[in-house]
Amino acid sequence: MNLQRTLAKSISFSGIGLHSGKPIHCELRPSRPDTGIVFILEMNGGIRSRIPARYKNVGALSYNTGLRAENGEILTVEHLLSALHGYGIDNCEVWVDNTEIPVMDGSAAPFILLLCEAGIVRQDAPRRTVRLTRPVRVGDDNMWIEAEPSDDDTLSIEYTIDFDHPSIGRMTASFSDDPYRFAHAVAPARTFGFLREVEVLRARGLIRGANLQNAVVMDDHRIISGETRFQDEFVRHKILDFWGDIVLLGHPLVAKIKAFRAGHRLHAQLVETLLKTPDLLVPVDQTIRHRILQWASSGNQPVRETVQ
Ligand SMILES: [Zn+2]
Repeated sequence: MNLQRTLAKSISFSGIGLHSGKPIHCELRPSRPDTGIVFILEMNGGIRSRIPARYKNVGALSYNTGLRAENGEILTVEHLLSALHGYGIDNCEVWVDNTEIPVMDGSAAPFILLLCEAGIVRQDAPRRTVRLTRPVRVGDDNMWIEAEPSDDDTLSIEYTIDFDHPSIGRMTASFSDDPYRFAHAVAPARTFGFLREVEVLRARGLIRGANLQNAVVMDDHRIISGETRFQDEFVRHKILDFWGDIVLLGHPLVAKIKAFRAGHRLHAQLVETLLKTPDLLVPVDQTIRHRILQWASSGNQPVRETVQ
C-alpha cells in the first residue's frame, strides 16, 4: 500500500528570509498521519499561530507563496514545501520563530539534505491520493496551465518559460515524480531575479535578504551571479516552485500538467479550480491497489477459473 510518511526525527536549521532579510530559526518535526504540513509560528515563547499548508490559507502570491491564518502569516513557504513533496513527506510540523522560511541558497537542495539527515518513516495510514477525471485549464492565451488525467499513477509536469532576456529566452523542462531525480535535477535549481527590479521590490518590502549567493541575478545583458548550476536552471526552478505550490491541494495528485509562462498565482489558481470544480477529483482506489499488492507479495499463484 502507498503509505503516508513523516520524518524519522526532528531536525533544525537557521537562515535569513529572502524578503524580510531577518534571521530565522526553524525546526522540522514528525507528525501524525492525515495532519499534512503545518507551519507553527512560535514567538516570544508562545505559539502564535498554526497554519496548515492548504489553499484556504493562501495569502501573498507576489514573488513567493505566503500563507496566513488568524494570528499570523508565513512567507516563502514554497521551496520547503517543494522539498517535502519531492522527498515524499506527507506529514510534518514546521516550527518557526519568524514570519518567513529561510531562503538558504535560493533552492530546495539544503532542505533535501536536512530531510536525508532526519530520515523517513512510513506511517500506518494510506496516502489519500486523488486523480483528475477530465482535463482542466487555467489562465489565458499568454500564460496558462493545463492538467489532464494520467494513466500511469504519477504526477508529471512539462514547464515552459519565455523571458525576453539573452540569458533565458524560451526553455522547456519535464519532470515526473521521482524522489531521486527530484533531489538531483530539480531541488538544486535556484530562484532568479533581475537587477532592474531590485529597487522597486525593496521599496515594496520584498527581497531584502536577496544577494548573489541565494539567487541567480541578471542585469539587462547577462548573469552577474556566476555560473548557473544547470544550463536550464531557470525552468527547473519553476518546476520546483510548482512542486511546492501543488501541496496546497492537501492531497497527493495524479495528473499530467503542462505549464506555459506560469507562476505562483497561476499555480494557486489551478489548485483553487481543482478544489472548487465538482467531480474533478476522485480518490485513487487504495483498496483495490492494496488488495493487488497484498496478493502479489504473498506469493499467490494466478487465479484460474475452472470450467465445469
Ligand atoms: Zn521559487
